[in-house]
Amino acid sequence: MKNKINNLRLAAIVSAAFCGLAAAPAAEAAATIVIVNGNAAGVGFNDPTIVAPVGGNPGTTLGQQRLNAFQAAANKWGATLTSSVSIRVLSTFEPLTCTATGAVLGSAGATEIFRDFPGAPIAGSWYPKALTSKIFGADPDPATADIRARFNSNLGNAGCLTGVFFYLGLDNNHGGNVDLVTVLTHEFGHGLGFQTFTNGSTGAQLAGFPSVWDNFLQDQTVNLHWTAMTDAQRAASALNTRKLVWTGAAVTAAAPGVLSLGVPLLKVSGPAAGAATGSYAVGVASFGAALSTAGVSADIMPVTAAGGVACAPLTGLDAMAVNHNIALINRGTCTFNVKVKNAQDAGAVGVIIADNVAGSPPPDLGGTDATVTIPSVRITLGDATTIRASLAKRSRTKSGVIANLTLDGSQLAGADAFGFVQMYTPNPFQGGSSVSHYDTGAFRNLLMEPAINGDLTHEVTPPQDLTFPLLQDIGW
Ligand SMILES: [Zn+2]
Repeated sequence: MKNKINNLRLAAIVSAAFCGLAAAPAAEAAATIVIVNGNAAGVGFNDPTIVAPVGGNPGTTLGQQRLNAFQAAANKWGATLTSSVSIRVLSTFEPLTCTATGAVLGSAGATEIFRDFPGAPIAGSWYPKALTSKIFGADPDPATADIRARFNSNLGNAGCLTGVFFYLGLDNNHGGNVDLVTVLTHEFGHGLGFQTFTNGSTGAQLAGFPSVWDNFLQDQTVNLHWTAMTDAQRAASALNTRKLVWTGAAVTAAAPGVLSLGVPLLKVSGPAAGAATGSYAVGVASFGAALSTAGVSADIMPVTAAGGVACAPLTGLDAMAVNHNIALINRGTCTFNVKVKNAQDAGAVGVIIADNVAGSPPPDLGGTDATVTIPSVRITLGDATTIRASLAKRSRTKSGVIANLTLDGSQLAGADAFGFVQMYTPNPFQGGSSVSHYDTGAFRNLLMEPAINGDLTHEVTPPQDLTFPLLQDIGW
C-alpha cells in the first residue's frame, strides 16, 4: 500500500511573543486529547448512514464509527504524551484531492505557533501550540484548537482510489483497505510537532525564525544544522537525498532498537574507478537473487547496442562485455525483468539499471520472472553519469571499475553510516512531504514515512516506532 499522505501545513498564526501567568505544570503521565467535531449536520462525523459494527468498533452509523476511530487514535497519543493542558483537535471529513489510483488520505498541522514564551527550551524557535501549552503549563489561546485535521470523505468511491476504503475497525485488521486509526495517528503526529514551519522549497524561515524542528536537522554534506544555514543552503539540503539526518538524542538512541541492520548499496571501487569510487543508493528488484552481505562483485560493463536498453538477446560485443561481469543497462523500452534476463543469458553475474529520468532516491525494480537468478539494482541518472565517466578506457571484457552489489550489514535501514536517522528529502521536492517525514528507506517501516505501509502497528514508541522519540527531542 503506497497511498500518499500529505502533511499540509496550515496557515500558522504568528505570535511574536506572549506572556502570562505561569502555572505550575502538573506531573501527569498522560494527556487528554479532545476531538472537536467540525462537520455540519448529516455529513462526516454526523453521517447517519447505517453500518455494521466492525473490528471492535461498535458504532452503528458511519459518523459514529469515524468518531470512535478518532478517539482510539487520540487515546493512543493521550496515553503516550504528558501534558496538564488538554489538546484539542478540530477535525472534519471532507472531499480531498484524489484520482482513481492515488489520494490524499488526510492532512493535519498545528493551528498556531509560538516562540520565546516562559520556559521555552530553545530561544528564538517556533513551537507548535500543543507543545507550547505543555511547556508553559497553560493554553496560550483557549479560543483556538491546537491541531486542525482533515480526512478524505470520498476515499474508495469512484475516481478516488477507487475500491480502497478506510477501514474503520480498531483492531488493525485492514486487509486491502487503509487503516484509519493508523492514518489518524500519523496526522495527529504532525499536529503535535512532527513538522517544520520552515519552507523547504525556498529555505525561508517563518517570519525569520527557525522551527524547533530545525535545531535537530543536520545536512551531512555541508555538516551544518538547518539553523546555521542560509535560505539557499536549506533549499539545497531539502533535496539532498539521504544526507539530511535527525541529530536528536532520543531518536538516535532508540534507532538501533527499532530499525534493522542492512542497507542495499552499490559500492564502486577498483583501479580505474577514480572519481566514481564510493557508495551509491539503490532500488532493489522484486525478482532474482536478493542482495546479501557478502554481495556480488565484478567489473561493470555497459550494454551499448540499441541505446543500451538490453531489450533483445545480447550479441557480439555486448555479449562478450557482460559475460562474468555486472551489466550496466539503461531503463526504457521494455520491462526490468526482460533486461536482467537478457544479461543473465549472456553470462552476467549482476545488473545495474541506470534510470533515464533525473530524481532521487532510485525507485525499486518491479517485475516477475522466476528464471532470473542474478541480483539487480537501480541507480539514479546522476549516479549513472558519474560511473559511466570511469568506464571510458575499458577493454572489451574488463573495465577495472568494480561493482559490489551488497546489503551493508553495518548500517541501519533508514539511518546513515553514523547512526543518524535519515529524513525524507527526495529530488524533486515534494510539497507537504519533504523534510517533515522519515525517509522511505527505513525498515521496519515507520509511522511517519510519507506513505502509509500496510504492516504498521498502532504503536508510536520503540521497539515498534520512532515517532514519540522525535517528539521527545523537540520538548514533549
Ligand atoms: Zn505525513
